[in-house]
Amino acid sequence: MEANRVYNFNPGPATLPLEVLKEAQAEFLNFRNSGMSILEISHRAKQYDEVHNQAKADIKELMGLGDDYDVLFIQGGASQQFCMIPLNFASKEHPGSYVLSGSFASKAYKEAQILGVGEVAASSKDVDFRHIPTQDELKINPKAAYLHLCYNNTIYGTEFHYVPDTKGVPLFADMSSDMLSRPVDFQKFDFIYAGVQKNLGPAGVVLVVAKKSLIGKSPENLSTMFRYDTFYNKNSLYNTPPAFCIYMVGKVAAWIKAQGGLSVMEERNRKKAKLVYDAIDNSNGFYKGHADKDSRSFMNVTFRLPSEDLEKKFVAEALENQLSGVKGHRSVGGMRASIYNAMPYEGCEALADFMEKFRKANA
Ligand SMILES: *Cc1c(COP(=O)(O)O)cnc(C)c1O
Repeated sequence: MEANRVYNFNPGPATLPLEVLKEAQAEFLNFRNSGMSILEISHRAKQYDEVHNQAKADIKELMGLGDDYDVLFIQGGASQQFCMIPLNFASKEHPGSYVLSGSFASKAYKEAQILGVGEVAASSKDVDFRHIPTQDELKINPKAAYLHLCYNNTIYGTEFHYVPDTKGVPLFADMSSDMLSRPVDFQKFDFIYAGVQKNLGPAGVVLVVAKKSLIGKSPENLSTMFRYDTFYNKNSLYNTPPAFCIYMVGKVAAWIKAQGGLSVMEERNRKKAKLVYDAIDNSNGFYKGHADKDSRSFMNVTFRLPSEDLEKKFVAEALENQLSGVKGHRSVGGMRASIYNAMPYEGCEALADFMEKFRKANA
C-alpha cells in the first residue's frame, strides 16, 4: 500500500485505482500539451473531444455492445435517473414496473409513484431485503413500459445473479454499484444507468447505456434537460458536461481494459469477496451476514456483530489498522465493506485478517 493511504471501503464516493490517480496527477497541469489542466479546458476543444469519445467507445467495447446502443453522460446523479426514466417512458396505460430489492430500488419506484405511473413487480421488503426476488416471484405485466431492477443493492449487500426473463418488456437496470465489475449479458438490457462514484470514477456524472431506439425520441411535452433525446442528439454535449468526471471515467475504463476486461475483474472480485465472506462464515456466528447466501453481492459485504458496542469498537480498531469506511448504512446497521474493482486483493486480505483477530479478542 502507498504510504499515507488507507484501504478505503467506503460505499461511494469510493476507492479508485491508484494507477489512474497517479496518471491524472501527472498530466494535471498540462493536459495533452494544451498548456491547461483538464479542469480549465473548453468542452469544445479537440483534446476534450477525444477524451469524451474514447470513454464512450471503451465502455461499449467492455460491455460488448454494438451500434444499436449509445452511451450518454448526464448530471444529477442516479437519483435524477429515478425521475427521468418514468418521465420519458411511463404512462398510466404503460406503467413502469419495479422490483423492490432495497433502498435505491424503492426510491426509483417512489418517483414513478409521484407521477402516478408506477407499479410493483416484486418486493423483498418483508424479509428486510435479504434476498433478490427470483424469476418466479416476478409479476410481469405485458403492458408495462419497462421492468426496473436495481442490479446491486449497495446498502443491503445483495446482487442479481440472473438476468430476468421479461417476456418482451424492456429491461431497465440501475447498475450504479456493480457496473463493469463482471461480464453480464448486457444485450438483454434495454437501458442501464450508473452513477459513476461507486465503481467508475468521481461523483458528478451518470452513465446511461441504452438502446438508441429508446433514447432517440422523448415525449413532446418534456423540458429540454429531462429529455434523453437532448443528450442523444448532441452526443451529451448540449450543455457543458462534467469534463473532469468523464475524463476520469475514461481512465478507469482504459484501466479495466488494460487489466484484461470484465472477466478478469470478475475473477478478482469473486476471490476478494470470498475472503470477506469466509471470514463471516467461519466465525462461529460472531459475524452475521445480512444477505442470504444466494443473493450475496460481490461489491458490498454487509454484516453485523453481536452488539452495537462491539460494532463501534470494530470500526475504531479497523481504522487504526488502515481499514477505513467499514461502518454500515444506518438503515441496516452493522458493517459494510465495499470492495469495488479498485479495491486490491491485499485490502480484502487485510480486512479478513483483522476480522479474525478481532473475533478472537472479543468473542
Ligand atoms: C448510490 C446509489 C444511487 C444514488 O446515486 P446518486 O448519484 O447519489 O444519486 C442509486 N442507486 C444505487 C444502486 C446506488 O448505489
